[in-house]
Amino acid sequence: MTDQPSITIPVSICIRMKRWHWDKKSQYTPRWLWLLICFAGFLLIGCSDSPTLVNVTKEPLQHADPRMASILPPKWKPTPQQDIQVDAEPDPKSAINFGGLLRVREREIVVPYVIGYSVNGRPLEVYRFGNGGRNLLIIAGIHGGYEWNTIALAYELIEHLKHDPQLIPPDVKLHILLSLNPDGAARAHNFLGRANANNVDLNRNWNVNWTSNLPQLRCWNLVRLSGGPYPISEPESKALMRYILDTDIEAIISYHSAGLGIFAGGLPTTEKSRQLAEAIADMSTYPYPPIDIGCNYTGTFIDWAARIGIASVDVELSNHFNTDFEQNLRILETFLSWTPTP
Ligand SMILES: [Zn+2]
Repeated sequence: MTDQPSITIPVSICIRMKRWHWDKKSQYTPRWLWLLICFAGFLLIGCSDSPTLVNVTKEPLQHADPRMASILPPKWKPTPQQDIQVDAEPDPKSAINFGGLLRVREREIVVPYVIGYSVNGRPLEVYRFGNGGRNLLIIAGIHGGYEWNTIALAYELIEHLKHDPQLIPPDVKLHILLSLNPDGAARAHNFLGRANANNVDLNRNWNVNWTSNLPQLRCWNLVRLSGGPYPISEPESKALMRYILDTDIEAIISYHSAGLGIFAGGLPTTEKSRQLAEAIADMSTYPYPPIDIGCNYTGTFIDWAARIGIASVDVELSNHFNTDFEQNLRILETFLSWTPTP
């Protein structure tokens, strides 16, 4: 989706100036002077990269830690549309090109693709970059407001890619799900924001080693949550499953926090998932294998994804507050060029 440049504005100004000149029959400003001013204006626009012509904005990125407060206020909600500016060849069919004098810049708008809705009707938004045939997926916010920094990280990565879309290799299409659990993110930015609106842990709602009554011993148990009445019972889980199957995803990073390291998907762990986990561990301070707290993780998302043949890992950020942006930018670059070895 593109916007044509606002060439109509200077044209309109010139026409009005010319009419005004004729109406007033000014004796002080000869007609040729107005025409000269207009022509000079067009030359200036054509020879410059004037951002004002097409509203090109390149604001500095904001990253991590105490700055998170400014990125994600308590009632934060992502802007539904974000802009990206890319250079484009002048369109020969566009309204006025003046023989190439005008350097046309088009504004491409990255619109999040809504893959479904949460229990409370919030959209589940996927941002997509690149046009290659290898589909890679990053998921954030599966544990909602309890792990809100994963959503902040996804937001930062999306903003970074808008400014630097060349990061995406030609053979890759990257999908970033900004938040799988927007209801939890809206409820609270603490442990009360972990479940979806049905009190279901969306990371434990998948049909591998699934149970409704989540084990409490040595597992996360600050609040009693459910694995759902049955596997993939939740609208968020259904939407994600449908999208993954429809999109033919090859590899997934699901972001969590905090501190345990990198988990590879599969029961038992699949070879592809293990390779991806090791590749990410090589690029980061996150350990693989992860710290073992003795929890029996039931019905996890990455185990389900690994079972259907997708290289899948959970990556846990260092804490519940920072996005570890620089580190995760390196991980992104590794992910984008990663392929499993046979
Ligand atoms: Zn989590």
